[in-house]
Order: sequence, then C-alpha cells, then structure tokens
Amino acid sequence: MSSRAMEKESYTEFSTRVHGQVTPWNRRPITGTIEVTRRCNFSCLHCYSNLPADDAVRKCELSLEEHRRILDEIAEAGTLWLLFTGGEIFVRPDFMEIYRHARGKGFLITMFTNGSGITEPIADELAEWRPFAIEITLYGHTRETHERLTRAPGSFARVRGAIERLMTRGLPLKLKTVVLRENVHELWDMQRFARDLGVEFRFDAMINPRLDGSRGPLATRLEPVEVVELDVLDRKRADAWQSFCEHFNGPPQPPGREDCLYHCGGAVNSFSIDPCGRLGLCNFSNAPGDLYDLREGSFREGWERFLGGVVERRVTRETKCTRCHIKSLCGMCPAYGEMEMGDPEEPVDFLCHVAHLRARVLGIEVPRHGDCEYCEGGKRFGKMVADAGRLRDVGRRLPFNC
Ligand code: SF4
Ligand code: SF4
Repeated sequence: MSSRAMEKESYTEFSTRVHGQVTPWNRRPITGTIEVTRRCNFSCLHCYSNLPADDAVRKCELSLEEHRRILDEIAEAGTLWLLFTGGEIFVRPDFMEIYRHARGKGFLITMFTNGSGITEPIADELAEWRPFAIEITLYGHTRETHERLTRAPGSFARVRGAIERLMTRGLPLKLKTVVLRENVHELWDMQRFARDLGVEFRFDAMINPRLDGSRGPLATRLEPVEVVELDVLDRKRADAWQSFCEHFNGPPQPPGREDCLYHCGGAVNSFSIDPCGRLGLCNFSNAPGDLYDLREGSFREGWERFLGGVVERRVTRETKCTRCHIKSLCGMCPAYGEMEMGDPEEPVDFLCHVAHLRARVLGIEVPRHGDCEYCEGGKRFGKMVADAGRLRDVGRRLPFNC
C-alpha cells in the first residue's frame, strides 16, 4: 500500500510503538527526508518536481560540506530514519559521499531512485555500506511504456540492469510504480515481475500538480473510480486499507486541536530538507513562509522554534474537511490544497471523491461533516453510490467490516 496518507500513518504507528506517544507538545525529529536535488535524467510525464539534469538550479544546492554539517546536527538531534530522494539522487556525482557520511552517523537509510545511475561500482559500494532499503520506481513492464512515460530513451534497460545488480548482491530492494493512464494496463505485469524476483511491490495512483504550479501531471491521472477499482482488484491492498481504517478512522484531531491546520506527522515526528537547505514539514510543503533556511541557522533552531510555530498554525475557516472522520482515507492536507487549489484549506475534489468512494466500497460509515457533495443529500452522492455498488460486485470479496 502506498498512498502518502498510509505511509505517514504507518510510520506514526511505528514511532509510537518505539518512542511512546509523540504529540505536538512532545515533538521529536525521528524521521527526515532529504531531497538532494530536484534535477533528474528522466522527464516523467507525471513528475511534480523534476528539472533537467544540467539545470542552473544546481548552483543553489547544498554542497557536500553543508550536507555533512547538517547531517551531524540531525544526528545530534536524535533522528533515526533518513530518506534520500530527488529528483534523481545519483544525478549528483557526490551522492555516495553524502550517503557514506550519513551511514557513518548510524542513520537507518532508505533511498528513492529511478535506478539508472546504479553502476557496478556503486552497487559494490552499497553492498559494503548497506542501506535499510533501496526503492526503485518502475514506469512500465515493457520498454515502450516505460520510455513513453520517462521520455528518456534507453532508460528501461538501465533500470533493469540496476535491479539485476542489486539482486545479485542481495541488497534490500523494493519496487513500486506510480499508476497513470499511460501504464495502468501493465500494472499487474509489474506486480508479477516483482513477485517473481521475491521483492516487495507497491503502487500509488495519487498524482498532484507540480511544485512550480503547473497542472500538467493531472492529464495523466486516473479517474477516482479507476483508482478505487485498483484497491478492489488487489486483495492485499484491500486488506491493508481495511486494517488501516480499523486503526485510524475517526475524528481528525484530538480534542483541543480541532482547528489546527496540520494534522499529519510533519514537524511533530518528521521533517524535510529541500535541495537548497530549507527545512520544512514535508517535501510537498513548499510555501516560503513554512521553510527555514539551514544556511542561516542550526537544525535545532529550525526544528524547535521555527517548525514548532508552523505546527501550531490554525485554520482560518471551517470547511467540510475540518470535522471529516475519513481524513485518514484521504490524502487531503494543506500542501495538497496549496498545490491543486492554490489554497491550503480548500478541499481537493479528486481526493474527496476517492476517499468517499473508498469508504463506501469498504463499508465505512461517514458521519456528516458539513456541505459535502459526496455525502447523503449531496449532488454527487447518487452516482458515487452506484459506482461503489459496481465496484463491490467486481470485488466479490466485500463488504469489509471496518
Ligand atoms: S524519475 Fe522520478 S524525479 Fe525523475 S522525472 Fe521521473 S518521477 Fe521525476
Ligand atoms: S477532502 Fe473530503 S474526504 Fe478528504 S478530508 Fe476533506 S472532506 Fe474529508
């Protein structure tokens, strides 16, 4: 299972078990994401962040020395888990030096990569300095589909070569895909490919606009009914949603925090650092007022004072999201609202539709939460119920009792 909401919540579950209850009053930077670059050698149709590999933006990226200083400070603050992501991490020729420094500090490290930069020497080095996980995204099961999506000739063979190198060395590989109109017909072949290799596989169909405001990626996005149909067709995924909602369905905020703008783990138990050294809640949260420049101050100052203030922000108005009990089934958050609607508090119709349809298919009750098109009496309720009925028939394994 791979929606951002589920990844955040499963991490919350883990950190609660290991570290005890972490609340906004008891904040700890347990996990961090470091985007080492937004440059990439692929040019994927759906990508929310990539810039050309030789883009002038590299002049603003943190240097190796700055990375080392920040990693030292993060380790000092007690962070355990680090994710290195991009763009494409291996576009930076010094990425392995950044990685080795982080590894030497004892972090548990996951890296997200398109795989194309994993040469024999890099695979050897990774075998010597094993990460916690290496996640490679597949974009298609055939070369035609993969390269139609990445717009990078030769990319399919390079990614398959990297997978083989990692498998040969017994490295902790995971595969995943992002499901788009262009590759949905090959989804189950990709899943079978991963299963035959004996590696974990997950997929995500939640596409958002680019961080620079372009809505181009939305042209590749599936319809809400197609997104939920994928849940129904994948028994493991449906079971994961069922178990997830058993744990997390309910009021969106603890008592006393109903009017808080943020309701995720960002700035409570996690943080993100962008390629130019700006500390924020997550790598989708890009508003300048929410970012702290680590070139101007320390990680501790940024975490404690700056993000401590951001996480206390309040909503300016009540929307249908404020009291919604299925928020955990929905990816709606201020960053998503900002990207798709230009307003952190404005509900995103696509997410709302997916969440209500998913809840209906799973048999989850949705208490009234304001003026909502997808609730009883709303103008899109009837069509949503009809679609849910059809999907339940397709599944023949529902309803779940959640
Ligand atoms: S490989 Fe990843 S970062 Fe590069 S263009 Fe594709 S989605 Fe974006
Ligand atoms: S977008 Fe819809 S489903 Fe999502 S939190 Fe808001 S009201 Fe709930």
